[in-house]
Amino acid sequence: MAEPLHVPTWNLDDVFPGFESEKYREAKVQIKAMLEKAKNYLANSSPPDGEEAFADWLWALLAELDQIEVLADTLSAYVYARFSTETKNPAVIAELNTIEELLVPATTVLVQFRNMLAQHEKQLKAVIAADERFAPYAFVLEEALFFQKHQMAPELEDLAADLGRSGADAWSRLQESILANTSAVWDETTGERKTMVELRNLAYDPDRSVREKAYRLELSIWKSVELPVAAALNGVKGTVVTLNKRRGWESALEASLAQARISRATLDALIGAMETSLPMWRRYLKAKARLLGLEQVAFYDLFGPVEKPGAMLPTFQWNEARDFIVRQFGTFDPDMAAFAAYAFEHFWIDAKPREGKSGGAYCTHFPAARQPRVFCNYDGSFSSLGTIAHELGHAWHYETIKDLPMLLSQYPMTLAETASIFSETLVSKAAMAELEQSARLPLIEMHLQDACQVIVDILSRFYFEKAVFEERTHGEITADRLCALMLDAQNRTYGDAMDPERRHPYMWAVKGHYYIPSLSFYNFPYAFGQLFGVGLYQIYREQGSSFARRYRDLLRATGSLPAADVARKAGFDIETLDFWLHAMSTFEEDVRFLEDEAQKSARI
Ligand SMILES: [Zn+2]
Repeated sequence: MAEPLHVPTWNLDDVFPGFESEKYREAKVQIKAMLEKAKNYLANSSPPDGEEAFADWLWALLAELDQIEVLADTLSAYVYARFSTETKNPAVIAELNTIEELLVPATTVLVQFRNMLAQHEKQLKAVIAADERFAPYAFVLEEALFFQKHQMAPELEDLAADLGRSGADAWSRLQESILANTSAVWDETTGERKTMVELRNLAYDPDRSVREKAYRLELSIWKSVELPVAAALNGVKGTVVTLNKRRGWESALEASLAQARISRATLDALIGAMETSLPMWRRYLKAKARLLGLEQVAFYDLFGPVEKPGAMLPTFQWNEARDFIVRQFGTFDPDMAAFAAYAFEHFWIDAKPREGKSGGAYCTHFPAARQPRVFCNYDGSFSSLGTIAHELGHAWHYETIKDLPMLLSQYPMTLAETASIFSETLVSKAAMAELEQSARLPLIEMHLQDACQVIVDILSRFYFEKAVFEERTHGEITADRLCALMLDAQNRTYGDAMDPERRHPYMWAVKGHYYIPSLSFYNFPYAFGQLFGVGLYQIYREQGSSFARRYRDLLRATGSLPAADVARKAGFDIETLDFWLHAMSTFEEDVRFLEDEAQKSARI
């Protein structure tokens, strides 16, 4: 694809005008002093007696900690933003290390703060109940207490952190480096090799024989390294089981639910809806198989593109993408459209792919400047237009909470994708409706393909991880057994829609998510985010633009309440199956469209 014209890079001068600037240097001096002061203060002083005095003291402390976080977050977001566009610049890499080092005491301050809250639990609870100022903080302060109770004694936490570096973290790095460093001979005659990452990317190749060859080579590599990778998984999960027990968690799932700020009832409703939707997703996969001219899809067909002569995805020049996004945002909320237009106009988006810039996309924000920035690699394709809409959704989320204290604006992973998925859905649904019939097929298929991963594949990962924790509690799990558990999970989810001989027994070795010691079940939050965002879109379709106001209130509450209360604010109940089924029903019309197309192509 020819490079689209005038793709911009971002301007960060409002944050800091460079590493050499006075403003940046001063910020570094300031944060160092602030952290030092807070650390000493928390270590050496105790709160005053008496409810009122305690309340004032706590209020002042919160303000102090807020300032620290504003500056610390701004510095680290800035240096990371610089790094992601200049990954090979030694000065930037050095600065990244400097900032990391500079912010190490921030962790200590956080632990000290939590311990202080725990030591004065009674006073704290009284103040929350009696003093109006603390009402918005009620949940986050109680939550801090709750997590503090799930900590071991300070010296044990210290030991755990120290041992973690050569234990669970090292196991995690082992999986990462095996994934990054393995390869296989692709072409026997030339001896050309392909890395694991390259082989996995071939899943998107239009030629089925290429996809199959890559899949077989990938499986053969995993087979040859299954022993160390299984050891890594056992190491990580074994550590988690041991530490959870010591920290008083009933299970890894209980800890994950708390991190995600959702109740067991919410998870059960979500998983229930995912299970109920499986027949629909199997219909999708069967229609996809027919469109690919197959009886049944194999694992290596999941990302295979559905192409028909004349059915081409449109491409967009940068200005066309901008106009399209701003126009679609405007159909929902004029303020959101004006915000997006401002972001485009003021170079808040780094979209130009170039040497030394990392891949992927993200949205970041700089609390000291109260501004976000979007990072992406724009190539003119529809999917990269969708990425900008997604990231601008995150940016709009930040816009709605930027004036809140930091303590009230940190949202959990489950709610982090609400605004992004909503924006992306808004834009892609509009594109589907506006495009000519012929261009709709690949677009709708792509949309379903992504959603199928987030619902069906994520469900298989949830089943798998649950089984792993159950078995790991009783001892080590062999590589063979891990493969059997994975195949079983795929069987329960993909079912008769996928060729039983061509599944992927080694998905447990592929996904780095299973190897993060501090975060278990890094799967259901994706499904939550996707369905919650889509569910809000569905409500918007029914209620019209009057929903825009409630949507903003909802986003504003994401950092200070549990997810169910956030949803209740907008008038719905995520602890019921109905909410999730309703969200899921947005996919039904797309699946039907694909089934019709499959039938038509069978007749030709
Ligand atoms: Zn996102």
